[in-house]
Amino acid sequence: MRTITIWNEFRHEREDDEVAAIYPDGIHEALAELFRTGATGDQYEVQTATLDEPEHGLTEDVLDETDVLLWWGHEAHDEVADEIVDRVQERVLEGMGLLVLHSAHYSKIFKRLMGTTCSLQWREDGATERLWVVDPGHPITDGLGECIELPETEMYGEPFDVPEPDQLVFTSWFEGGEVFRSGCCYRRGSGRIFYFRPGHETYPIYENEEIQQVLQNAVEWASPREGAPRSFGERA
Ligand code: ZN
Repeated sequence: MRTITIWNEFRHEREDDEVAAIYPDGIHEALAELFRTGATGDQYEVQTATLDEPEHGLTEDVLDETDVLLWWGHEAHDEVADEIVDRVQERVLEGMGLLVLHSAHYSKIFKRLMGTTCSLQWREDGATERLWVVDPGHPITDGLGECIELPETEMYGEPFDVPEPDQLVFTSWFEGGEVFRSGCCYRRGSGRIFYFRPGHETYPIYENEEIQQVLQNAVEWASPREGAPRSFGERA
């Protein structure tokens, strides 16, 4: 059985009534519930970790067990210790999968792995978004139609300052006219990384069944595979 660790900053839910009404136990618990009880519920061991725990809940032991790490953060990226970022980066290079969700585009770990500012444009206006599948047949799109429509969301717009994705799975259209690369696949070392845009804290995005399907598909896609061993250095 594979192990998923869901990391959440867990500040908005404790500070803001509007967010607490949507995610009373935190975004990490809503996501954990999905993986415990959803279609893939018997396939994963699910654990959670949050910023204010010692070592942000990401001890060596926790990361050693983790096959795929999900990351949600927004207002406290700078409070994540560099030592923990180093640790997560090392694990990704060794093969751990990483799902980077919504405002985690500005997380230290995503910026480290991308090597760019990861900046973008945004507007919180509750307008409609359509996430168009631009790579039909990609495993992350299994079970979806040609697009996912979110009636109320925050806009993210291009330019999105990330390296060219290895595979672009979704392109978003927003009611205000902007577009955005909303589902981006990367490889770093042996690890697979998926950036997925939806998930603003004041909209119940993670209750959407198609978004849940994408998250489940993405965890499957990002899971470590058995491959040839990586060996480096001078050969005898
Ligand atoms: Zn947001």
